[in-house]
Amino acid sequence: METKTDNIIKGIAAAPGIAIAKAFIYEKERESINDDSITNVDEALQNLETALAQSKKELRKIFSVAVDKLGEKRAAIFDAQIMILDDPILLSTIQNRIRIEMKVPEFVVEDEISKYTRIMSASNEPYMKERSHDIEDIKNRILRNLKKKKLKSRITNDVIVITSNLSPSDTVLFARSNVKGYATDFGGLTSHAAILARSLNIPAVVGLHDATNKIKDGDVVIVDGFFGQVIINPDEKQLASYQEKLEKLSEHDEELNKIKDLPSQTLDGREVKLLANLDVSSEMDFILHNRAQGIGLVRTEQLFEEYEEFPDEEKQYQIYKNIAEQIYPDTVIIRTFDIGGDKVLPVDLHEPNPMLGWRGIRLLLDSPDLFKVQIKAILRASSHKNIKLMLPMIASIYEITESKRLIEECKKELSANGINYDKNIGVGIMIEIPSAAVMAKEFASEVEFVSIGTNDLIQYLLAVDRGNDIVSKQYQEFHPAVVRTLKHIIKASKETGAYVSMCGEMAADPFAVPLLIGLGLDSLSVSASAIPLIKKIIRSLNYKELQSLADECITMKSEKEISQHLHNFFNTKIQDIIKKLIRG
Ligand code: PEP
Ligand code: MG
Repeated sequence: METKTDNIIKGIAAAPGIAIAKAFIYEKERESINDDSITNVDEALQNLETALAQSKKELRKIFSVAVDKLGEKRAAIFDAQIMILDDPILLSTIQNRIRIEMKVPEFVVEDEISKYTRIMSASNEPYMKERSHDIEDIKNRILRNLKKKKLKSRITNDVIVITSNLSPSDTVLFARSNVKGYATDFGGLTSHAAILARSLNIPAVVGLHDATNKIKDGDVVIVDGFFGQVIINPDEKQLASYQEKLEKLSEHDEELNKIKDLPSQTLDGREVKLLANLDVSSEMDFILHNRAQGIGLVRTEQLFEEYEEFPDEEKQYQIYKNIAEQIYPDTVIIRTFDIGGDKVLPVDLHEPNPMLGWRGIRLLLDSPDLFKVQIKAILRASSHKNIKLMLPMIASIYEITESKRLIEECKKELSANGINYDKNIGVGIMIEIPSAAVMAKEFASEVEFVSIGTNDLIQYLLAVDRGNDIVSKQYQEFHPAVVRTLKHIIKASKETGAYVSMCGEMAADPFAVPLLIGLGLDSLSVSASAIPLIKKIIRSLNYKELQSLADECITMKSEKEISQHLHNFFNTKIQDIIKKLIRG
């Protein structure tokens, strides 16, 4: 029998693993509108009024949360949305058309508001284009409320979710329904949805372009998160081959299990600590199970995803304390909220360029109340001295000194209230912006440790959006500029005595690991699921050889050369078992 290929679609391998299950097509709030006639005008107008009132109620709630957490200025956008709902001209036009045309309110609302969005999205002004999304949002909100629908938050168990684009909150939310895999039309390797899928150990393929067109609800699909492909309604041969792969994978897991309790060091004795990244609290069991030597990154903004709002100081304290207790006596590095950019804000600011906008430390320093609540919660949880605090998106020395000043202020306030905390809590920074890389020596001398965030560093260094699959070819971790920048960061930071780690996704790439260790990193922080394999690789190598490997890569001029060199090294130096593991 010929092997079928016309039922295979290719995308980007975003989270490793293989899943076979029924497809669940997840469509976001796309309301179908008909132009049915009405017989009772009063009833239709009443329905419209109720939907508008409900929409206003929702927006007021968002607005008040926004004011509370982000201040009046940033919340203004929701005020503007409420004002649109109150616009007498728009309202009377809609009401009059319902009376005269005798059409259902959905049809008139859709038709009338779409006139605005069409004009705005056709504009050459980026600001106007952005505002058209606002208006579209309002329209969808009213339409949903006219249909008296609630947002979908639960799905059937044990399915593969097929959707156009996955948000981080969808990823977490669906994981609760025991989702087997994800396949999306859009998205890139380092999008947060992809990172979360990896953390949650859910196979995912993103950037498939037309998965939602080609796959129907209930189709059997195979998500191959190793090769970045999705097979729709596999034939017997395809199914049998993947079932065999699944069996092999579980044998490999057993193989890796055997080295779980052995140290993470090279053949010639260089220790490289293996830490875990924690995105959702449910990962803790897996982190402990895979014997992480600590947690190198807690993405606290994900707590916001889980809790749907910024948890207050007490709630945050409980969460951090709980993590610290579970990982004790090892250490946990808690990164303060890195909100904004591609990560969900409590409000949608519609910034023209969010990746270069109000995110990470910028937002925190502009919202000292929010920042101090988090610092105090972290300090209070640190009394057993196994917590460190890390600052995201640092671009200037002021951001470090100002954050340190706020940390001192929080310490004083806690001391004044007789509250216990680690007086010498270690403070570190993420190096993920080129300016911080250039200034690594000066910045590192301000802190105890630095952690390299390659997901953002590569994006900003190469000017390639980390979440955009159209340019995913240009997102190159082995670009010579990236490799040389890493070398500079590690060398310059170490000269100050700072401890240097990496928590970006590059640290979990088996082909990158020999280079990273050769460049001198002290530790790698990766998804818990990657720890056993990375340990196996580390234990197969000689540090001396890795230093030479790094020296060779530094002299190379193209990504192709470096990538080829690292692949050759891998193929000759690393045992067959690992090669097989990676090839699935
Ligand atoms: C990074 O940028 O590499 C990083 C670890 O941070 P995040 O992915 O959360 O932006
Ligand atoms: Mg980052």
